[in-house]
Amino acid sequence: MKITGIETFTLRAPLEEPFAYSQWRYTHRETTLVEVRTSEGITGWGEAYSPSAPVAAAIDRFLAPLVIGRDPRDVEDLWQFLYARGLDYGPKGTLVAAISALDIAFWDIKARAAHVPLYRLLGGARTESIPCYATGFYFRESETLERRFAKEAEAYASEGFTAMKVKVGLGVDRDAELVELVRRTIGPGIGLMIDANHAYDPVTAVRLARRIERFDITWFEEPVSPLDPDGYLEVKARIAIPLAGGECEFTRFGFEPWFRRRALDYAQPDLCACGGITEGMKIAALASLHQVHVTPHAWGSAIGQAAALHFYAARPRHPGTLTAERKVIECDRSENPFRTEIAVSPVRLERGSWLLPDGPGLGVGIDRGALERFRATA
Ligand SMILES: [Mg+2]
Repeated sequence: MKITGIETFTLRAPLEEPFAYSQWRYTHRETTLVEVRTSEGITGWGEAYSPSAPVAAAIDRFLAPLVIGRDPRDVEDLWQFLYARGLDYGPKGTLVAAISALDIAFWDIKARAAHVPLYRLLGGARTESIPCYATGFYFRESETLERRFAKEAEAYASEGFTAMKVKVGLGVDRDAELVELVRRTIGPGIGLMIDANHAYDPVTAVRLARRIERFDITWFEEPVSPLDPDGYLEVKARIAIPLAGGECEFTRFGFEPWFRRRALDYAQPDLCACGGITEGMKIAALASLHQVHVTPHAWGSAIGQAAALHFYAARPRHPGTLTAERKVIECDRSENPFRTEIAVSPVRLERGSWLLPDGPGLGVGIDRGALERFRATA
């Protein structure tokens, strides 16, 4: 089998209602998909979690020409080849996100060619579904955050989610009010995470954590800068809430110091950015050496969500007990037509859990009409 063609799809869609988190306000969703075609007619799909224009250029004009004619099933060798080619210029960031998109597509092809769901090639799954936490609670201007957060909390709980993640970063007092409101709305027994998207310095992160510790917070995500593992360690030493992070980190080389120094309790590599599935498995193996849980970040299209699900389903429980850890994977509930409208057979969500697809590869069929509709022309 040989790679005969690689095409990127830069997708862009306006949002019905803009929303914000601590770092940015969104009026559009944007992503980049890649389709890898082969001599045997099998096609694979991948996605990059990175700004579209540079990542599409990295694939189209730098990486794709290097792999035409290669066998896409040689995932390990292809990864090493592509990473080595870009190492001197882009050991992290857009170039690695571009490799991630290609790597996911190669794995999709490899599993399709083997006629098995991808999670089987990655080690197999002990379950048919994975419980999700709902990611939502973004900041909006159309109604008060009190009303909005209460409505979302009720909706996620009634949809069957057993955990949900609240955005913080509005200042300690405001954050504490809203976290308390969500906890009171859902009651005990439902997991509650918070995510600051690195809005705070260590002192402020500690102040916030201490204010809300009594609300049984599963984890505090990105409390401080992703460039500051010492800041994580400072926060971790002074609070009782576990820390999560890693959506801005890349490759095993980037994650290793975080694990070795015990700066994270939950590592959240994004498979569409961290180096793809090939590298995600290495990151997870390293994490297991250091007692760090891995639960992938997933904020992309139906392709990225499926990649995260297959990867996570095939990871062993950690620690290896019968009942201690319940797996929980991210399920973005913010408006994103690429998650809901580009797939003819998206991964199914039922009562707050993703059902593992049983079709070959990622198990996601693409609606080409929808792709063209969202394709950015500029
Ligand atoms: Mg996050």
